Amino acid sequence: MREVYPGIFLIKEKGTFGVIKPPENIYVLAGSDGIIYDAGYGSKRVVKYLIKELKEIENYFEEQNKEFKLTRILVSHCHPDHFSGLKRIRKALGINIVLTKKSQEIIKDKRSFIETFETDAYEDYLRIRKKATSKILNFLRNVGSRVFYQRIFGASYIDDPEDVIEDNSEILINGESWKVFPSPGHAIDHISLYNEDKGILFSGDNILRSITTWLGPPNSDIAEYVETIKKIEKLSNLKLILAAHGSPIENPRERIADILRHRKDREKQVLDIIYNNSENGISPKEIIRAIYSNNSRFLRQVARGWVVLTLKLLENKNLIRRVDTKKKIIFFPTKKD
Ligand SMILES: [Zn+2]
Repeated sequence: MREVYPGIFLIKEKGTFGVIKPPENIYVLAGSDGIIYDAGYGSKRVVKYLIKELKEIENYFEEQNKEFKLTRILVSHCHPDHFSGLKRIRKALGINIVLTKKSQEIIKDKRSFIETFETDAYEDYLRIRKKATSKILNFLRNVGSRVFYQRIFGASYIDDPEDVIEDNSEILINGESWKVFPSPGHAIDHISLYNEDKGILFSGDNILRSITTWLGPPNSDIAEYVETIKKIEKLSNLKLILAAHGSPIENPRERIADILRHRKDREKQVLDIIYNNSENGISPKEIIRAIYSNNSRFLRQVARGWVVLTLKLLENKNLIRRVDTKKKIIFFPTKKD
């Protein structure tokens, strides 16, 4: 663990399998009425490690004759690397689980959670299948992902949180008021935690120091994501961003400008490709190939998410139009006349 700001500690949980299970940041706002922000992974080994690190913070506080008591745990959003540890941590520490209404709906049971990952029309942009085939594939995928989340992340579901809050609220942590506000885009239930006096924002997955936030259907949305980043940009006195992955961000304004620029560049890149193929149109798969021509199949698979969402965005802005042919979906620039 590391004290990243007086009284705020960062515990890093190790990851495995690269981007599938990345290293995860757990924050402890330590004091007499402290909170843990994000629950991380849920396997026995990881939670044991977390408890050991918490003990060290407690010892450190005791040495200084300061009171250390954790009362609650809150999560940024319900992706498996953020909520899986909830149940085990609650049991080990006897603390309360605080969830927003939206988050609670998602992880109340396995079924609701899996449903949030089920395909939508925008994912179908990438492949046209017969209905029966896609039914069978969906079924197999659902069974697969149930096992996957449980085994790899140690996911457990929460139908009995002690406290359910609005996603726009104020909470008291160690006697200080923190603002909880909705920040959808990466995930529909994503929230941020902000204290204006300190200028500290817990950004979850929305703003990361050196990697681009993953965006993909069905529960990410680029227009919402950009809105969220702009909302964060407007926070007065923003000095330090503590993200769910990677190191603290000490130059928040610069990083925010980078992220907004990057999204604009990506939008233009996709639009340019469609303009360059305006005669015969181009399919999403071909667009991905054009952008990631030298990259692995795996990376193309990961990138599918933002490309599909960018197509959705451009279509909503009426800059491109889609044509469904028998075999595939292709895109054309919107006629300007
Ligand atoms: Zn996430």
